[in-house]
Amino acid sequence: MAIIRVLPDVLINQIAAGEVVDRPASALKELVENSLDASATQISVALQGGGIQQLCVQDNGCGMEPNDLLMALSRHATSKIASFEDLEGVVSLGFRGEALASIASVSRLRLTSRSAVAAHASVIEAVGGQIGTLKPAALECGTCVDITDIYYNTPARRKFLRSASTEYGHSLEVFQRLALSRPDVFFILSHNQKMVHRYAACSDVPAVRARDVLGQEFFESSLEVDENSGILRLFGYISKPSYSHGGRDEQYIYVNGRFVRDKLITHAIRQAYSDVLHHERHPAYVLYLTVPHNAVDVNVHPAKNEVRFRDSHVVHQFVFHVLDKVLSASSFEKSGQESTAIPSYSEPDDFRQRTMELSFPQGDYHAHQFQVKEALKISDSIENGEEFPLGGAIAQLHGIYILSRNARGLVIVDMHAAHERVVYERLKHAMDTREVLMQSLLLPLPFVATPQEVITAETHSELLSAIGFELAILSPATLAVRAVPALLADSDAISLARDVLSEIENFGASHVVDEQRNKLLATMACHGSIRANRELAVSEMNALLRDMEETERSGQCNHGRPTWHEFTISMLDRLFMRGE
Ligand code: ADP
Ligand code: MG
Repeated sequence: MAIIRVLPDVLINQIAAGEVVDRPASALKELVENSLDASATQISVALQGGGIQQLCVQDNGCGMEPNDLLMALSRHATSKIASFEDLEGVVSLGFRGEALASIASVSRLRLTSRSAVAAHASVIEAVGGQIGTLKPAALECGTCVDITDIYYNTPARRKFLRSASTEYGHSLEVFQRLALSRPDVFFILSHNQKMVHRYAACSDVPAVRARDVLGQEFFESSLEVDENSGILRLFGYISKPSYSHGGRDEQYIYVNGRFVRDKLITHAIRQAYSDVLHHERHPAYVLYLTVPHNAVDVNVHPAKNEVRFRDSHVVHQFVFHVLDKVLSASSFEKSGQESTAIPSYSEPDDFRQRTMELSFPQGDYHAHQFQVKEALKISDSIENGEEFPLGGAIAQLHGIYILSRNARGLVIVDMHAAHERVVYERLKHAMDTREVLMQSLLLPLPFVATPQEVITAETHSELLSAIGFELAILSPATLAVRAVPALLADSDAISLARDVLSEIENFGASHVVDEQRNKLLATMACHGSIRANRELAVSEMNALLRDMEETERSGQCNHGRPTWHEFTISMLDRLFMRGE
C-alpha cells in the first residue's frame, strides 16, 4: 500500500526551484527584482562561468535587519504582502516569498545585508538549504546575495544546463530586460571579472536606456509612442517597418514595470504592423503599458512573467489603435524629413476622384484603368519641387525607378511599389467610409460549432452584423452562416466565420474581415497600379511623389518593401570619398 507522507521543507524548496529558478538567468532575475523592490538605485551583477560558477547581485537598497536575514531564506516568507487584499493590488515585483528559499536549497548561498539604522552588516550562509548561523559582516547599507555552484546538489537539474556561454547569453538577456524596465536605476554587469555593460541612471524617459540597450541602429529607426487613454498609457519605441531585422529577440513588453510575454499584446502589435511589414520580418519594440493595479492579475505564473487583464479586450484595442496610428502617420512626418511645410497640392486631376469612386464589388476594376497621362497635371507654380520631402522628379530610370532631387540630395522611388500603396490606401479609404454591404447566401451554410462559438455568436450578433455577418443558431452545437460581407462573397464562408468568432472571443473584436478585405484590395491595387516599363512624363512622376507624401504608410508597398530611399549629399560625398 502506498504511504502518504509530508515532504521535508528542503525537498519542497527544491521542487519549487524547478519552477522559479530553472537556470542561472532566472535566479538572476529573482535577485535583481528583490533589489528593485528594496528601492535600490544602483545594482551590480557579477557572473562567473555564465552564472553557473558564481552569480552575485549587490544593491544599495533598504537592506534587512539581522533577524530578517533568517526569515528571508524561509519558504513563503515575504515582507511584501500580508493579506489577500494586498495581493490584488500588488505593486512589488516579488510577493510569493519563495525565490531565496528555492535558490538556497539548490546552491551555496551567502546573504549579506545592512539596513540604514544598523551599526554593521550581518551575513548568513546556506548550503543546499541547510541554513547556518548569523554573523557580523562588513557592507555598506544594502544587500549582497552571492550564489556559487547552482544545482551542485541536484545533478539531474545541473545536466540540463547548457554551456557557460549559452547560460551567459540567457543571463545577459535577463539583465537587459531588467535594465530596460528601470531607466532610472544604475546597472552594472561584469562577466569573468570583465565589465560588460554599464548603464548610467537616466530620467524616467526610456530614450537613453533604450538606445544603450538596443543600440543606436534600433533607436534611429524607431518611432516614439506615447499615448494616454485616461487609465491606460502606452509609451516606448517601435521599429519603423523598414528596420532590417529578421528575429524576434528585440521585443520587450512591460506591464506596470514588469517584463511579460503576453499573447494578447503581441497579437495587437502584430496586427498593427500587418499592413506595413513584410511577412518574414518581425518588428522590434520596447513598450511600456501602465494599467491600474487592480485591473491586472500578476499571480498567474510562478516566475511572474505572464499577466491576466481584467478587461483584455480594452487592452487589445488600445494597443492596436495606438500603434496603428503611429505606423500610419505619413513617413515624412515620422522621419523628420519634413523641414518645410508641404504646400497644398492643387488638385486639378480627376485621378484621385476616380479612384475614390470605384464601385465595389459590382464594378469591374479593370474597366477603370487610369489613363494617367491626361488625368495628372501639376500646378505650374512648383518649378523644381526641391521644397517637397520627396523633391522634384528629374528622370525615370529603366522604366522602374523615379529619380528626384530634394533639398537634401537624391531620392530614388520604386514607382510600381509606391503607386501600389497609393492606390491601396485610397481603396481602403473608399471602403472604410461606406457601410459594409452584407450579402445573403442563397442557402445558409450550417456547420458544427463549439459551445464557445455558439455563445460568441449569440452575445456578439450586433458586432457581427456591423462587419457584415449574419449567423443563425440552429442548435446548441450548430451554427449557420446566413450572410457574409459582400466583398468577401467568394471566400470560404464557414472558415471565415470561424476565424471571426475566435478573434471576437479572444480579443473582443475581429480584424479578420478587414484583413481579408485588405488582401483583396491589395491584389486589386497591384493590378491597378503603374506597371514597370511604362514611360512617365515629369508631371506624372511629380504627381505620384506628391501623392506619396499625402498617403498613409507610403514608405512601404503593400508587401512591406520600401518604396523609396534617400541619398543625402553627405552620403554621396562619403561614397566618393570627397573631403577625405
Ligand atoms: P519575495 O520577493 O517574493 O518576497 P524572496 O524569497 O525573493 O521573496 O525574498 C524574501 C524577502 O527577503 C523579501 O520579501 C524581502 O523582504 C527580503 N529581501 C530579499 N532580497 C532583498 C534585498 N535585496 N534587499 C532587501 N530585502 C530583501
Ligand atoms: Mg523576490
